[in-house]
Amino acid sequence: SNGDREKVDYVYKVVVIGDSAVGKTQVLSRFTRNEFCFDSKSTIGVEFQTRTLSIKSKVVKAQIWDTAGQERYRAVTSAYYRGALGAMLVYDITKRHTFDHVAGWVEELRAHADNSIVIALIGNKVDLEEKRAVPTEDAMEFAENQNLYFFETSALTGDNVEAAFIKLLEEIYSVVS
Ligand code: GDP
Repeated sequence: SNGDREKVDYVYKVVVIGDSAVGKTQVLSRFTRNEFCFDSKSTIGVEFQTRTLSIKSKVVKAQIWDTAGQERYRAVTSAYYRGALGAMLVYDITKRHTFDHVAGWVEELRAHADNSIVIALIGNKVDLEEKRAVPTEDAMEFAENQNLYFFETSALTGDNVEAAFIKLLEEIYSVVS
């Protein structure tokens, strides 16, 4: 990366939300650093990571915020959502309860974030297909009803992570410009 020397056209704040242990931190580090870390909670306290990329011929700096564990204490604050143009709402395909809580997270977003926020629903850990507890069709139907973009990803293999973020950033671009 050439850091500050790069001309940035837009900075987009994106928040990553969802239940604890669904893989939020790993999805984020897969996208920003192409890394997966088995001992993940070393990142606690880090507020956001960035990646600069080209979206529709513009240089976009994605500033992606991690809850840093706040969700465990139901203490995700409105400051976290302030100015966010996009949200990655992550659940774990092997844990039904994390999908059952998705509707609550959407309500939280509608209450605290900007009305025009673009939301992607992310079913993570598809590498654990043999332990799947959430059928793809259930999530797809929910996403359609709620107007969310839907992807199934694996932070471990990297499957679909890049595609999900790029889709979200392209949709933000078409909303804000
Ligand atoms: P967070 O609490 O939502 O930020 O979740 P983490 O990113 O800390 O991940 C929780 C656990 O799930 C960790 O043990 C990760 O190694 C693991 N994990 C995260 N993403 C994946 C994935 O795509 N596949 C598998 N098999 N494990 C994952």
